[in-house]
Amino acid sequence: MSASSQTSILLIYTGGTIGMIQNPETGALGNFNFDQLLLQVPEIKQFNLDIFAYAFEPPIDSSDMSPDLWAELVRIIYSNYEKYDGFVILHGTDTMAFTASALSFMLEGLMKPVILTGSQLPIGALRTDGKENLLTAIEIAAAKNDDGTPVVPEVCIFFHEKLMRGNRTTKISAENFDAFESNNYPILAHSGIEIQYYRHFIRPYDPKATLKPHYKMNADIIIFSLFPGIQPTIVKKILKSPDLKGIIFRTFGSGNAPRFSWLTQSLTEATQAGKVIVNITQCSTGSVKMHLYETGCQLLEAGIISGHDSTVEAAITKLMYLIGQELPPESIRAEMKRSIAGEIGVPGKRKKETEEIRKKQEERGSILEKRNT
Ligand code: ASP
Repeated sequence: MSASSQTSILLIYTGGTIGMIQNPETGALGNFNFDQLLLQVPEIKQFNLDIFAYAFEPPIDSSDMSPDLWAELVRIIYSNYEKYDGFVILHGTDTMAFTASALSFMLEGLMKPVILTGSQLPIGALRTDGKENLLTAIEIAAAKNDDGTPVVPEVCIFFHEKLMRGNRTTKISAENFDAFESNNYPILAHSGIEIQYYRHFIRPYDPKATLKPHYKMNADIIIFSLFPGIQPTIVKKILKSPDLKGIIFRTFGSGNAPRFSWLTQSLTEATQAGKVIVNITQCSTGSVKMHLYETGCQLLEAGIISGHDSTVEAAITKLMYLIGQELPPESIRAEMKRSIAGEIGVPGKRKKETEEIRKKQEERGSILEKRNT
């Protein structure tokens, strides 16, 4: 594995805590510019790489991220695709998993690394996690196999020692350095003294693939999360909304919902009206299996489709992407059920391998925990 001097990386700075500085008067964090940020990481010069930068002007807090800005990122990557071997996107942590998921669908045929990272503490802070995250993300984006192909030709998040598939990732902590998790898919690499890649889980490089950018996302959708006591009048009103095209329906356990006839009827009417309803679980691990319980079977009958083991972030951005393609509801439903960028598991496939690697990763996690206590 190597990173030659010809290897070039485009660093795209969107904003986020990594590039923020504390206002001495108010104590609040605000953005500072990209040159100031780079001054905090002189180590970057030690890489034997050509590193160029592109900065959002002004940089944003990632709560202000939007489908238009995702399209802007796609434009930047597409127009620089031939010039660079890899891309690193500096991004706020709050919506990083949404952006990573969106890009994985919008950059069809991507065969170069696009690594998102950020930090919990600003890069100028004494105990910052930003330097480590940034430097390792660059190293991963530049890593090549002996035949010159990229080691990680997909959209990923690198954060606190872990490289994760972008569309499998969720922010799990507002305060720990270990802020992201890939609950339903093993990590793709672990960064210790060396970076250990788990190659079985990285998307294979396809020399024939060509990058096809997609810019249109349709956000006429909602995330609808169930809870005991949910009220018919409100739900019926939302499901009848004429502008609504899709719903990510967050259900209990393995995809179950209360057996209220008003609910089943409203969901059936919504699907019959062409709205696409995708069932994902509120649990952080595991998959939807609607046939397991009667409380799930009724949803199947209402025309709701399974989102399998999808994260909320992947499900919502995939639906935006598919509706943006202006496909008929039946085709959107079919596409939602299959993996288009590695975002959902194929049940049974590689199960044994997955379990073995996950076990190893968990053992490593508990060794690290013991060391830290
Ligand atoms: N609010 C910040 C953002 O997402 C938080 C962070 O970067 O960690 O932009």
